[in-house]
Amino acid sequence: MELPMSNCKRPRFSGYENEPPLSSKKCLSSLKTLLDRYPTNSSDRATQHARLMACRGHLCTREAGNLTSDKLFSEQISSWADTQNSVKKVLEHLVYLGKATGDIFLNDAVAKKFLEFHRDITEECGAEEKQHSWAVIEKEEEIVMYGPYYPNYSKGIHSEDIIIQQTEELLESEEFSQQWKVYVFTMNSPCLARNTEPCMINLVQKAHAWWTAYGVKTHIGFVRCWGFRGTKETLFRDIDYGHVDCINQTGNHGDYVEAAKNRTNLNPLCENLRSAVKHLLTCADLSFPLMTTVREQDWNSYFKKVHSIFECKPEGEKKVFAQKLDAAIEAARALLSAKSRSFDKHLEGGKAFPLHSTFAPQVSEALQDEMTLAFQQCWREMVQDKYADFLRGKLTEQFNQCAVQLFIKDIVKFTGRYLHIGRIKFSKEHMAAFEAE
Ligand SMILES: [Zn+2]
Ligand SMILES: [Zn+2]
Repeated sequence: MELPMSNCKRPRFSGYENEPPLSSKKCLSSLKTLLDRYPTNSSDRATQHARLMACRGHLCTREAGNLTSDKLFSEQISSWADTQNSVKKVLEHLVYLGKATGDIFLNDAVAKKFLEFHRDITEECGAEEKQHSWAVIEKEEEIVMYGPYYPNYSKGIHSEDIIIQQTEELLESEEFSQQWKVYVFTMNSPCLARNTEPCMINLVQKAHAWWTAYGVKTHIGFVRCWGFRGTKETLFRDIDYGHVDCINQTGNHGDYVEAAKNRTNLNPLCENLRSAVKHLLTCADLSFPLMTTVREQDWNSYFKKVHSIFECKPEGEKKVFAQKLDAAIEAARALLSAKSRSFDKHLEGGKAFPLHSTFAPQVSEALQDEMTLAFQQCWREMVQDKYADFLRGKLTEQFNQCAVQLFIKDIVKFTGRYLHIGRIKFSKEHMAAFEAE
């Protein structure tokens, strides 16, 4: 009689996309059970043996396929572990695309789980916008939540390190089931660069290991795209207003380099960085506030030059003028610093500010003019600084998004069976709170 091979094939092999991989020993023992269920004569046994061998051959092919894919997977992972190269790759990608594109949100079903767990954690521990992680092991009858954990940067510990350790302990200590699911929440996407193995790579490798050892699927959800180093990304560090101005006034890299050479202390940016800035300048909404948080010291330091005008005055007079000037600069801050405006509008705001009215009766016309001029020069420098600051932040944000997207795109083709990773879409109010952080 014919051995029903499909019984073996469907659940164990053809279906392996959705099932955890079984060891060859397990597959063979289940085959033997199958053989035992069909008492046969000796010639049939030979056929069965042939079938069995064919099946083992089929198994070998699959494992060979897996080996190749495992090799490609680990090559992909180690290419990302080479930070310098990956940063270059992501920048090229960002320039090529113009901006980060593509959807990396988790699908609705997985996102819903995260939102439910998040609500439970928030109810118990309060809302938290800073980086932290928690995790959940979802069993058939039970849900195990652990965390939140926080990074200890002085010890080089990221919150994901603790998550990995806790998850391993839980999986090892218990009678695991293949139906279990691991959910890892982390406020910032796991880092792609640090002194030791980055968290993103650790987690992806662990997800693979947990799948192989326990048949457990892992879900990783995050709110903000951290990229390699988050806000500490150094790629755009050197871009100042001088570069931005040159890029604005030129149409290609050659002209830009020429323009930069004619300015003092301006090292031209590489072509990819220039392209990224150029694209940002032409395509994005570039309104920004001068001060996001009130730092008076920082604000006042921009206007030192206006103060120096009184240096030659007698001590008593100097003190009165200085107080009046401080009050005027503070008034300008209160009036103009919080509004989100374009670069040009911020410049206009400074020009229109009636500084002279503060001094009108006591100060000579000539001194008023001198003061107004100094104030406007200080104002312009401050706006230029803040503008460059804002652009660097914007570029970093786009770059970090692009890094996470590219990483996920690269690994998902190897890990699709056991790893879901993506951003969690919170409600608008929720996101506003996160972005204010
Ligand atoms: Zn088989
Ligand atoms: Zn990390």
